[in-house]
Amino acid sequence: MRHFLIAGNWKMNKTASEAVTLVEQFLARAPKTSRVDTVLAPPFTALAAVAAILAPRAPHLSLGAQDVFWEDRGAYTGEISAPMLADLGCRYVLVGHSERRHLFGESDEAVAKKVQALLRHGLQPILCVGETRQERQRKETERVVTRQILNGLAGLSADQMARLTIAYEPVWAIGTGEAATPEQAATVHRQIRSVLAGEWSPACAAAVRILYGGSVTATNVGEFLASPEVNGALVGGACLDPAAFATIVSIADATT
Ligand code: PEP
Repeated sequence: MRHFLIAGNWKMNKTASEAVTLVEQFLARAPKTSRVDTVLAPPFTALAAVAAILAPRAPHLSLGAQDVFWEDRGAYTGEISAPMLADLGCRYVLVGHSERRHLFGESDEAVAKKVQALLRHGLQPILCVGETRQERQRKETERVVTRQILNGLAGLSADQMARLTIAYEPVWAIGTGEAATPEQAATVHRQIRSVLAGEWSPACAAAVRILYGGSVTATNVGEFLASPEVNGALVGGACLDPAAFATIVSIADATT
């Protein structure tokens, strides 16, 4: 039985009050299940409000954040640390999302420091990797994704790897409505597993969950989850529609 993880990345959408409405609408429609690990990742400013709803009423749903800074505290104006996220009840944190890499110049080295900070504080990183359209056209997908994984996860032990999730998100598929095909996703997921097996171990490669992300909808999620290579989905736009996100979770629950 596969244990899917479905994560909703709200990006920079919803005020704290709007977040409460969205979560209420989602809870009214979502299956009351604990078979699928479901993660809601609102903006930092809505984390406390969402936590206040989830903790008493839906403890099977997890709170996630969209980014983190690697230092624990100090003179880093505007940044948010791993202990701050843990204190709010976050369990998962996205790291290296393509928007962070491309819009904010986040390097593999910065991503690695963020992953390590999260693991130090008992949080579970969701490392996002993926190639641009030009890189795919130049047949560099495997090289780019391998580099992002080896640099982003450098020095992690097998125990630390066991707490990690990887999201394969081709940049050209994010927010474009042009999802990868399930075959394209499965091919890259296999390449990622082979990197994990070579650098860590076959057991580690089998244990790490690899999500697909990029224009996932309630209509296409079933095709991705049908692939044995795919352990869940990272959902952007569609998670802002409570009915669509509830349907995505229901499909995962039925596929498990
Ligand atoms: C994302 O933000 O991680 C994402 C995959 O977005 P979308 O589903 O909108 O493509």
